Amino acid sequence: MSENKRNVLFTAPIEWWKRTSWGTPVEVSASIYGLDFLVENIDTPHKLLQFPTWEEYTNCLKSGEFTDVCISFLLNHTDIVEEMVKKTREISDVKIIGGGHGAFNKKPVNDMFDDVCMGWGVEWVKKWLNEPINTPPYKLPVSDLKFAFGPVKTTMGSIVGNAGCPFGCDFCQITMEYDKPMQLITPAQAVAHMKENKRRFYFFQDDNFFLHKKWIKEFFSERKKQEVDTPWLAWGGTELLNKYDIPELVENGFIGVWVGYERSDLTKTSTSEEVTKELIDNDVLLLGSFIIGWEDQTMKDIEREINWASKLNCDLYFFACYVPLPNTAKWDHFKDRVVITEPRKWGSGEYMVWEHPNIEREWLENTLNDAYKRTKPNIMRIAKIVANSQLKRKWV
Ligand code: SF4
Repeated sequence: MSENKRNVLFTAPIEWWKRTSWGTPVEVSASIYGLDFLVENIDTPHKLLQFPTWEEYTNCLKSGEFTDVCISFLLNHTDIVEEMVKKTREISDVKIIGGGHGAFNKKPVNDMFDDVCMGWGVEWVKKWLNEPINTPPYKLPVSDLKFAFGPVKTTMGSIVGNAGCPFGCDFCQITMEYDKPMQLITPAQAVAHMKENKRRFYFFQDDNFFLHKKWIKEFFSERKKQEVDTPWLAWGGTELLNKYDIPELVENGFIGVWVGYERSDLTKTSTSEEVTKELIDNDVLLLGSFIIGWEDQTMKDIEREINWASKLNCDLYFFACYVPLPNTAKWDHFKDRVVITEPRKWGSGEYMVWEHPNIEREWLENTLNDAYKRTKPNIMRIAKIVANSQLKRKWV
């Protein structure tokens, strides 16, 4: 098929939700925001499948309509993507492109693709499709996360206002995507989108939302101007949250944050404790994320970390083993000690994939599972915050 007749099938891994537990009783089904965003901003004919079944995926391939398949995925879904690539090559002669954090990992992961989307995805894909490059502000897609907590179901909209983070944590792949943070959409766009696409909540999936103080200030003025009162949540760190007036954030719809505490024994410990208390006192929902098994830790340190985490009284918890991923700053330092070679086990945080100098891998993985038993979800507080956030609304 000639270049100007291209028709691209964009897809997420097959039925991801069936293989993700998150360590909580919450069931989640989602879209990959990057794919929703990408297809909103290209002109070439295409179709998007978000976590399709095998039948939906293979039917598309068999239709013979597509010239290229782009699969976006995380490292922990590498096994299913390998199967997708194998099946695709059996059925069709389309070109297969890998994208997302999973595809950043050179050998052995991205060897299976014909090409790999690296860096800023919209720009890479537009060049690859021979389309003129566009600049921000981009078009904003409708993208949802669906949650079921027993019989209670809700839909949360997603928005990314700004991408990237300059902090360069040695285990994180964000800085491989963007060398500096970039604004994708304006605050006015975000608020107009919330007004038009009414959802109970919106989640800002910015890599580090509270980096962008000026954007947030404008977002608050736009909420007043456009009379939008949608509650919102975001990812953030306590050092940045400490630079904000928490009651002012709450007054402007802030009801929850996924905080990357990562570890206690850094200088930020007292800041983390103070900010956490302030967030709790202001009825902000807290999901705390913690990493255990850093190279310098002992078993005793890890016990202390989990105690510290549980005393913070977060509403939900996420624990992960310290695993520097391929291509991150610390990869060269660790790669010869990696003993579990399946890439899908590197990305989920459940597995200790390298030999630690002081700790048995099995002990660490069991301790991580025990940590969830010691930090139960705070159901009553979650229900109260969620209910109050909706009761206060005017739904204009
Ligand atoms: S872990 Fe968080 S703070 Fe660190 S570089 Fe990644 S996004 Fe930034």
